[in-house]
Amino acid sequence: MLMQRSRTIWIISGDSFEGMELANHFKSLGHIATHIYTQREAFTLARREVPDLIILTPNGEGKSSIDFMRKLKRIFENREVPFIFLCEADTPEAIANALNAGAFDYMRKPFSYIELDARVQSALTKKDIYQDLQEKNERLQKLSVTDSLTGLYNHRYLIEQIERSFNLLTRFNRPFSFIMLDIDHFKQINDRYGHITGDQVLIVLSNTLVSGRRNTDIVGRYGGEEFGLLLPEIPADKVEKIVKRIMRDIRSLTFTPRNKPSLNIHVSVSLGIASCPDVKISDPEDVIHMADQALYKAKELGGNTIIQNRSGLFTEIKVPL
Ligand code: GH3
Ligand code: MG
Ligand code: MG
Repeated sequence: MLMQRSRTIWIISGDSFEGMELANHFKSLGHIATHIYTQREAFTLARREVPDLIILTPNGEGKSSIDFMRKLKRIFENREVPFIFLCEADTPEAIANALNAGAFDYMRKPFSYIELDARVQSALTKKDIYQDLQEKNERLQKLSVTDSLTGLYNHRYLIEQIERSFNLLTRFNRPFSFIMLDIDHFKQINDRYGHITGDQVLIVLSNTLVSGRRNTDIVGRYGGEEFGLLLPEIPADKVEKIVKRIMRDIRSLTFTPRNKPSLNIHVSVSLGIASCPDVKISDPEDVIHMADQALYKAKELGGNTIIQNRSGLFTEIKVPL
């Protein structure tokens, strides 16, 4: 099955006859094959596209093929491109050096096309397996930090990032703020309009929390109808503008319950804020605790309220209706 797939193959060779012949051979097998004459040409092309495989023959420029391969691999970054060296009879050391430096395979000239085709096929198959594994890993990695309902970061990741921010604070004095946000009377939404509507509210509210954030901000679902926002580089005296906007954005949201399509409902939220540095904060747990205390005060005041906790002193940030 893999045999039939058309692949992009570069033949990098300073010998134009050999280069053309190899390119024509792979074209006849249905691949997109390009003969590249110089290392410079290869660098230029590598910045624009990534081939599936490279056949490298010494190019007569007298430059090291191993160095050249390394530089190309750097341009391709983490995308796997197998290199097959095709060289005149060389010492076992030279072959070992190329393989140790990351070449996928090494063939001596004169070569047979039957053998070259088999080696190319083997390289492409391994590249596919590697790529598939890499993609699956990335997907798993993403899943492991994502909340499945809202697509936000999950609780675990949020905590990890608070710990990370705390390390940056102690090491480099980088400030940050943490906001705990809780939907007011959310249970009533479920009870009146159903759990699915409740879920929809969580999803729409999550999207609102994410939009307008800096890409270094971390928005996570702390649990149930509670969210955490971690704002790097935002100390206590810079947080007001941000939370006011969050509050206004959420107040302006309208939801239509599934079981009452003629209704437009609103939700309100309460916010508790802690910021670092703060003399009362000496570990990551303190950050969460201080924000949680502020949130508790906000609820005590009837919800729809923002409270900032600065060294145990609670201040309301008012957002007029
Ligand atoms: P308060 O104003 O004090 O925050 O009251 P509340 O009703 O928002 O808080 P409470 O903790 O009493 O209830 C939270 C509700 O959130 C109860 C639970 O069923 C609901 N909930 C938690 N997770 C989900 C979810 O994933 N989907 C839906 N639809 N509801 C959820
Ligand atoms: Mg609530
Ligand atoms: Mg809650």
